Amino acid sequence: MIVDNTKINDVTSIAIKAFRLNKDASRVVLMNIQKNFSLLQARGVMNVKVMDFCGTHEWAITYYGIRSLMPKGVELIAGPGCPVCITPATFVEEAIKLALDGIRVYVFGDAYKLPSTSLKKPRSLFEAAAMGANVKVVYGFLDAVKDAKEYGKEALFLGIGFETTAPSYAIPFKHGIVPKNLKFLSALRLTPPIMRHALDINMKKYPTHKFGVIAPGHVSTVIGASAWEFLPREYKIPTVVAGFEPLDLLIAIEKILEMMVNERPGIFNEYARSVTWEGNIYAKKAIEEVFEVVDAAWRGIGVVPKSGLVLSEKFKEWDAVREYGIKEDIQRAITDPPGCRCGEVSLGLIPPTQCPMFMKVCTPERPYGPCMVSEEGTCRIWALYGGYAEL
Ligand code: SF4
Repeated sequence: MIVDNTKINDVTSIAIKAFRLNKDASRVVLMNIQKNFSLLQARGVMNVKVMDFCGTHEWAITYYGIRSLMPKGVELIAGPGCPVCITPATFVEEAIKLALDGIRVYVFGDAYKLPSTSLKKPRSLFEAAAMGANVKVVYGFLDAVKDAKEYGKEALFLGIGFETTAPSYAIPFKHGIVPKNLKFLSALRLTPPIMRHALDINMKKYPTHKFGVIAPGHVSTVIGASAWEFLPREYKIPTVVAGFEPLDLLIAIEKILEMMVNERPGIFNEYARSVTWEGNIYAKKAIEEVFEVVDAAWRGIGVVPKSGLVLSEKFKEWDAVREYGIKEDIQRAITDPPGCRCGEVSLGLIPPTQCPMFMKVCTPERPYGPCMVSEEGTCRIWALYGGYAEL
């Protein structure tokens, strides 16, 4: 088949013009943001917090300087949108131990430098690999499946992710292509329960503030916009499922403020080019078939009810916890390294700049805490793109 690049380029350039370079549209949306916030101020609402729940949203907000465009009183805060940041420290420690024992451990590149709580080396799989441990970085679970089949010896996959990544694990299990020698350590976490948790804490801390939510675009592609129905219904919080271009985010903020002005909290699906109301039914079914929902530890945060996925009974022979007798040490699982305030950063309670380690002890080159590791980690994003410059 011949691919017509001219057309692709045309389409791409139209999309870029519409979403990135469209200054006129951006100006109109910004004026609406200002106007709506003025209307709220006239009614005595002086502070609005808009929380994003996706590392890529936080990246776009910071990279494009969207915070600096907000009227004073509209604060954009980052929620727990990075699965690497909240992966229990004990999972890193177990993976390091097994890799040093010669078991091949597969890990995604953005978790390769994820530090454990211990300050003794090796703190990460990266450091363990430098000491001769058997670690392999992969782009996806299927790469590990293929490699483990050829390898034929004991191997383990450190399964980090939210609902976006869960289908990429579930479908190979469902289709029976995961070799028996590849065990799976599930650090999979679910976003709606942690959203409740983060909002409960923030709303208690700031009872006079109004809250809005930018719901995660990638996650919603899988679980659907309907997954956030509880936010306007139970919490009366305006919610927008948004895309990742700067204009997507500006529109999301505009719509949130508009719903506040109209006193009609609801769900607006700004990302309809990717997200449907129901989500991806096939992917959701595969997740349900392969995993079961359990209470789970979130690093720096605590145990959140019904917020994790583990392999269901049918797939237990792949379960690394069972195979290697991994004991759950909850206190250790949820602990950040001494002095690291990643838990508070992940819950949107403080910006990274309030951590005394930020850009001193902890830098993107030498991450001390978990939020400085992944491209989706708030501390790393702020460190690289100056989220702090305007504060
Ligand atoms: Fe943790 Fe580093 Fe962020 Fe501080 S700057 S909260 S040490 S990740």
